[in-house]
Amino acid sequence: MRKELSLFTVADILHHFPFRHIDKTKIDNIRDLNPAMEFAQVKVVLLSLNIAGSGRAKRLVGLFRDSTGIMEMVWFQGITWVEKFLRIGTTYLAYGKPGFFLGKPQMAHPELETVSLESGLKKFLEPVYPSTEKLKARGISGKIFSQFVDDVFNKISSADLPEILPEEIIKKYKLSGRFEALKNMHFPPTIKEFNSAVRRIKFEELFLAQLHIQILKQHRKLFSKGWVFEKVGNYFNSFYNNHLPFDLTGAQKKVIKEIRSDLISGKQMNRLLQGDVGSGKTIVALLCMLLAADNGFQSILMAPTEILAIQHFNAIAELTEGININVKLLTGSVKAKERKKILDEAASGDLNILVGTHAVIEDKVQMKNIGFAVIDEQHKFGVAQRAALWKKNVIPPHVLVMTATPIPRTLALTAYGDLDYSVLDELPPGRKPVTTIHRHESARSQIMDFIKSQIKEGRQAYLIYPLIEESSKLDYENLMKGYEEVKSYFPEPKYWISMVHGKMTPELKETNMQRFVENDTHIMVGTTVIEVGINVPNATVMVIESAEKFGLSQLHQLRGRVGRGAEQSYCILLSGQKVSQEAKERLGIMVETNDGFKIAEKDLELRGPGDIQGTRQSGTINFKLANILADRIILETARDEVENILKIDPTLESAEHLPLKIYLDNFKKNSDWSKIS
Ligand code: ADP
Ligand code: MG
Repeated sequence: MRKELSLFTVADILHHFPFRHIDKTKIDNIRDLNPAMEFAQVKVVLLSLNIAGSGRAKRLVGLFRDSTGIMEMVWFQGITWVEKFLRIGTTYLAYGKPGFFLGKPQMAHPELETVSLESGLKKFLEPVYPSTEKLKARGISGKIFSQFVDDVFNKISSADLPEILPEEIIKKYKLSGRFEALKNMHFPPTIKEFNSAVRRIKFEELFLAQLHIQILKQHRKLFSKGWVFEKVGNYFNSFYNNHLPFDLTGAQKKVIKEIRSDLISGKQMNRLLQGDVGSGKTIVALLCMLLAADNGFQSILMAPTEILAIQHFNAIAELTEGININVKLLTGSVKAKERKKILDEAASGDLNILVGTHAVIEDKVQMKNIGFAVIDEQHKFGVAQRAALWKKNVIPPHVLVMTATPIPRTLALTAYGDLDYSVLDELPPGRKPVTTIHRHESARSQIMDFIKSQIKEGRQAYLIYPLIEESSKLDYENLMKGYEEVKSYFPEPKYWISMVHGKMTPELKETNMQRFVENDTHIMVGTTVIEVGINVPNATVMVIESAEKFGLSQLHQLRGRVGRGAEQSYCILLSGQKVSQEAKERLGIMVETNDGFKIAEKDLELRGPGDIQGTRQSGTINFKLANILADRIILETARDEVENILKIDPTLESAEHLPLKIYLDNFKKNSDWSKIS
């Protein structure tokens, strides 16, 4: 059995929780069984036992009765064992999902227990354990396991399972003790005790996960050295006072202050900057890079795609016109001669800011004195690439990771909990929320007419086709078909159309993109390669074809391409007539809200935490009982309490925190633990 369940220690066994409890005092009549019942328990006498069928259809059929009727129980596996176990004329408690065959009730592989006078109804709530198929096939696995756990609890006491959580916290939140909670997870006297046990275990799980994360973060803060950017100098001041084209939002100011305090702390910064699409992350990054330059340091800004890198470069070049700073662009398509010049300037220190794709972290790029690195849209970067950054100077540069994929707060607290975290939770003033509608194929010509009316007013439109796989031929065919169709609605020379997709050469992509940016073309037909970051404030319509094929965060990203200027913008989600329930839900959410954080929470809910793009350390987001969404209040409480404890007692030296220290030490020593999960 040990092998079957991959359980290793007694502690593991005690943490192998039942997935439900059966109320053993409740007995159903055979007469009352119906197909809607999830589970039923009958008290029945065995009348006869027969083998039916042969080969793979071979099965054991028992006929049972109670005072209200007769039913069959069927076994397809473990026949020999069950046959030996059953005695005709004996009374059993049978538990399982009632099924119906030709209108007659039956149960397949029920859990069976003999009813003797003393033991029959001894426990009020009996645990039912998750087990492997092989064990279940014997029809009794849960029973044996339950007896085993019962045995363990008879042999141990609370001294064997000492408390881990500080007493003060137990008192403050009225938590059950550890031993009591574990016992009541398995054998609760009442539902009330079971619920307290669940609450205690969830608290413990989230508390310990927070402890791990915050210790990690603390360790980094205590021991990692970082460059000190003491000065606010000429670059920053002259830009801020003379070249900033708008007032910063309150959120931008707040975030810059947060970053600045990291930059003078003497510790290396590792900060995640979250900001919904259009919240103005670029300017924050630029101001930080100017601070770096003021202190004699070089910076890099790394974007996930060439188009984005170019756009960042153009934005920064434009913004910094008039201040004497050296900004260069390095991507895979920069020609050898220009590349050499850039590399020379990087090495000599003449270069202040290097913008580019992952080309900027290649070994060939030697910076004289890099002090600051910005990673835009970080989920497209791997850990290895981030590690490459570390080698670029004697002390690693400060790192600002920017993402527009809103990460739900709860996930940020857990999966990304060891990074510091800033949010741009305010959009620049004057933005009108995008109006989103969902339409079916049949509305196509109306939609095209609508685009025409927008173009007439001088606006531009995007038409996006799904590209599920880069290599999918069908997706490209659909895109090309779509392009031809759009061309027939919008004939040249009255209308001009750009097209961008992943199979184009970078030059062609860039030309097409650039024409759209310059309002030289009216319509951009493309795939999700335009998804991140593209900024064309004059575009007011985003049509998403086959919208049911996109995930929520992708839809939100795409919608973020419009609504960036002063005009009212529209997002039109086009789908087939029939879409799945889940797709319907996704489209419904998009229509309902523009709030990226709400959408991210919904995404998390629909897909589950393990599936969210860019998540790491899955061990910190998947728990036995706790759910970071449903239990977010417990999560935040646990986070606060861990923070308080580490503030007062950072190395967990006090007697009250000793159990936590021992727990962490054991955890480190026994690396097997991490493998189990
Ligand atoms: P994102 O956070 O999506 O990367 P960007 O940095 O591209 O957003 O900014 C989106 C647009 O908003 C840009 O055109 C930028 O110039 C503009 N912007 C940024 N901050 C402000 C502000 N405080 N006031 C007005 N416009 C701003
Ligand atoms: Mg951006």
